[in-house]
This record gives sequence, structure tokens and C-alpha cells, in this order.
Amino acid sequence: MPHSDLLSRSLASVWHPCTQMKQHETLPLVPLARGEGLWLYDTEGRRFFDAISSWWVNLFGHANPRINAAVLAQMNTLEHAMLAGFTHRPVVELSERLSALTGSALGHAFYGSDGASAIEIALKMSAHYWRNTGHPEKNRFVCLAGSYHGETAGALSVTDIALFRDAYAPLVRVSDTVANPDSRQSASALHAAEHAADALHGYLAEHANSIAALIVEPLVQCATGMAMYDPEYLRRARAICDRYHVHLIADEIAVGFGRTGSFFACEQAGIVPDLLCLSKGISGGYLPLSAVLSSDEIYSAFYDDEKTRGFLHSHSYTGNPLACAAALASLDIFSHDKVIETNKNRAATLTWLAEPLATHAAVRSFRHTGMIWAFDVETEDPAFGRKLFAAGLDNEVLLRPIGKTVYWMPPYLFDDRDAAFLVERTGLALEAALA
Ligand SMILES: *Cc1c(COP(=O)(O)O)cnc(C)c1O
Repeated sequence: MPHSDLLSRSLASVWHPCTQMKQHETLPLVPLARGEGLWLYDTEGRRFFDAISSWWVNLFGHANPRINAAVLAQMNTLEHAMLAGFTHRPVVELSERLSALTGSALGHAFYGSDGASAIEIALKMSAHYWRNTGHPEKNRFVCLAGSYHGETAGALSVTDIALFRDAYAPLVRVSDTVANPDSRQSASALHAAEHAADALHGYLAEHANSIAALIVEPLVQCATGMAMYDPEYLRRARAICDRYHVHLIADEIAVGFGRTGSFFACEQAGIVPDLLCLSKGISGGYLPLSAVLSSDEIYSAFYDDEKTRGFLHSHSYTGNPLACAAALASLDIFSHDKVIETNKNRAATLTWLAEPLATHAAVRSFRHTGMIWAFDVETEDPAFGRKLFAAGLDNEVLLRPIGKTVYWMPPYLFDDRDAAFLVERTGLALEAALA
């Protein structure tokens, strides 16, 4: 199909996400033909290094042969069946393996299809737990300043990003926010963490009676602009939540599955949340799948002869076997290829190569956690983000800055040459965008 034909038909029929559609009068869509490994190819054969893992979902490259084979085999066996009243091998195996990855601390997995649905599930589970245990007044939530937990109405209630929330404010029961531990706010990351923990302590000392849960993005608040913080905050938040009988919900939708250097980000603080939300990388970036892992304490509060004490929540595609098969194949790659270990070398190389960018005159706060790198650009140009995106494409790299924050979240398969390419082309795109 000719390039321009696909573009006009897309604009005439597809409502693209997170987009002011009128912008496409001047900024052309990119019509993709295929993906392979780190690369996306458009219909005219141009290629782009997928430096942001297609919105943070892809872990092992596009068209990964091992995940392809697993999904195909599952497709020929059982493509889908309802999970109420039925079960199947992929969903059982995935639940067992996810639980094992939490050291068996979180014993049951409840499935949804997107990150936002996992957040809805976790919020409902937490409030319903308190209702089942005789505390129906504990039905509010607290989140961190700048938090992002998705864009359905319940998820927006704990999302503190005006751009996404303001238009829907009348539809949303907005939660209170407490200070975040972003390490850029203080001379030391530890100090920022302690300061934010004190703020949480003060807040819960006053409001814990009405609060069901604190929800956090462990170690990196991604959507607000890759705000990174010290694990000490999570240790303290865990202790404060315990003290005030408030659940800790860890939203590892973006940071789970090795993104911060450990399999789950919470591991770096040595803590386990009461509810753990997973999505994005869970299926290797193949199929929509999310899960909420719950503590046995929460699970047991629903286990009863009374139907309405159960968790009567469902999505049609809950536990989809194809998505579970992709997730299992992805977990196999983690263990077989010792991915967490080899990523340490990848991260060290990319960080070392990135030195010229980190010290660039227009670059501020170059930072890095595991397989996420970010820096802020000193510019007054409100169109900087759009210009950098376009300049990135001209230089064969897919970058999608958040405001003036440029970041990399590449798939876990780049070698030294790929890393050098990424740094060089990002540098060229930066110069072009600033020119
Ligand atoms: C992306 C994201 C979500 C929402 O996931 P969707 O699949 O886009 O609904 C929630 N929380 C965090 C931290 C995310 O990065």
C-alpha cells in the first residue's frame, strides 16, 4: 500500500491515543510496516531504533522468535476461554511463577488487560478489604505529587498530572497527594527520600482513619518525567503504612520486569507491597495483559460463604491464554539468558558512552536507574519536545520526550554498537532540536 494512502486513511478512520489530532496536519504519522529486534521499519523502508520500547512495553525486541513460537503454539491449542469457572495451564503457570518472584509473599494473581485496569482492581480490592474487615470508612487513597497511574476514571483519581486530569476533574474523586521523593529536589537523594517520608508520616498520622492505601511508582515516577528516587523512601513508606494500617500498593506497571535493574523495583528496598500492579513488560510487549498480585492477608478477607464478600470484578479477556503464553516465554528468556545480570553490563556501557551527553551544555540532571536513562534540557522553546521527536526520526531513533525531559528505555537486547549508535544519534537530534 502506498505510504500516503495509509496516512490519509488512518487520519480518516483512527483516533490516535494521547494526541491532538489536528497536529497531524503538520506532523505526519509514521506508517509502520514491520518490526525486528530493536528496529521499527516504515512502509518506505526507513528504520527507527525503538529507544522507548514502544511506550515501555517491549523487553526482548520486536518479532522475537522465542515469544512468537510460544504464542503460535498456544494459538493452536486454546486461544481464549472465560476464566470464571474455568482455568488453563498458561494462567496457572504464570500465577505460580509471578508469586514465586515475590518470594511467595503475594500468593494470588488477578488479571486485567491494561495497566489502568490493574490500578482499578487494586484500588477496589484495597477498599473492599477494609469494608470486609469492618472498616468501610477507609475508602480514600493517597498518592505522590506528580504520580501517574493510568487514565480511566479510578486511575485518574490517583494521577497527579494536570494535563491528563483537569478536563475530567468533575468525573473523578481526586485523592490527596503527598510530597514525592524526587532526588532532584534536594542536595542528596537520601535527604529527599527522608523529607518525603516525613511528609507521608505527618499525613497518615492525621488521615489514616479514612485512607485505604498509599499508591506509589517504586523508584521511578516515569510519566511525570522520569523522576528517580532513593529506595529508602520505599522502606520508610512500608513501615509508616504498617504502623497506620494502610495498604501499600506498588504500581510496577512501568518499572517491573527488570526495568530498574532488579526484577521488581521493590526488591531494591527489601520490601513487599500488599498489592503489586503489573502490566507493560509482562507479556514482553506482545499482548495486552495486566495482573494484580495480592497478599494472603488481603485474599483471605474475601474468602467467605457470602458471595458479596468476594471480589466480583471481571474483564472479558481476564487471563487470556495467548497473553499468558507470551508472558511465560518472556519469563523463560529472563532465566535462560540471565537477563538481570547481562543488563548490568549493558547499563554500564550505555552510561559510560553517554558521558558527552551527560556533560552537554544544555543538559541538566542526567540520571540513570537500571535500564532507564533521562536528562532534562535547558530550553525556553515550548515546541522542543515535538522538534526532538521529529529530529530523532530524521536520525533513525524513536525518542518521545516528556516536556523537556529526554529519556531512553530501550529493549534488553542492545550491544555496544547499538549503544554507541543510540548516544550518537540522540546527540545529533538534540543539536537539531536546539538549533
Ligand atoms: C502506563 C502506566 C499505567 C497505565 O497502563 P495502561 O496500560 O496504559 O493503561 C499505569 N501506571 C504506570 C506507572 C504506567 O507507567
